[in-house]
Amino acid sequence: MSNKKTPRWNRILLKLSGEAFAGEKGFGIDGKAITKIVDDIIEAREAYDVEIAIAVGGGNFWRGMTGAEGGIDRAQSDYMGMLAIVMNALALQDFFEQRGVYTRVQTAIRMPQIAEEYIRRRAIRHLEKGRIVIFAAGTGDPYFTSDNTAALRAVEIQADVLLKGTHSGVDGIYTADPKKDAGATKIDSLEYLEVINKDLRVMDQTAITHARENDLPIVVFDLMGEGNLQGLLSGESIGTIVQ
Ligand code: UDP
Repeated sequence: MSNKKTPRWNRILLKLSGEAFAGEKGFGIDGKAITKIVDDIIEAREAYDVEIAIAVGGGNFWRGMTGAEGGIDRAQSDYMGMLAIVMNALALQDFFEQRGVYTRVQTAIRMPQIAEEYIRRRAIRHLEKGRIVIFAAGTGDPYFTSDNTAALRAVEIQADVLLKGTHSGVDGIYTADPKKDAGATKIDSLEYLEVINKDLRVMDQTAITHARENDLPIVVFDLMGEGNLQGLLSGESIGTIVQ
């Protein structure tokens, strides 16, 4: 019998945006920022009997749109973005494994020298064995984002929730942009359609739609807030839940 606590959700998919990896540097990978994220996840895993999958972004290195605005073909630029995601995934894997936590990176674009290819059933098996699975290279398709990837993979692996960690100090969904509007108030719970209809830009609309069609709850929360991940697993109401 494990002496770990039973979490609110048994299997979670955590979406980490690339920018969270850049920390104060604003570009690339900041060891301090990634260490904090990794430590929080490891502590949560030690306290709770939870299976963890992670979908990472790549915005700290490259976004398809940026290249497209600079004259690169959009699809080509998106593939560059997917490679940026792989860099983050490899860094994340290294930080976990330096701490003795087993992980598997699965890429949507085959690159067998450095990672497994994405195979849904194998991903689930890794989770059951207690490994952290890191999904990389997005969906493998241009014109999508890592939010789409997170929602897609979460449904595929039958995760109980998609936890979207923010890193910019905003701890959930607000009535307006709290950085621009002092009167903005935080919302604890929302329905999918409200997020879509009010165009609350917390996550890609296609990701929200996919979650809605598949009854996947999404929690938007401050990844950098002390104890937030464990608080969420314990059942505390942190951030904003969309369901
Ligand atoms: N990307 C893509 N297809 C996907 C996922 C990502 O083409 O399925 C590309 C896209 O160009 C995107 C970039 O990878 O801008 C980095 O991902 P994203 O911007 O979602 O990262 P985040 O904002 O989470 O850091």
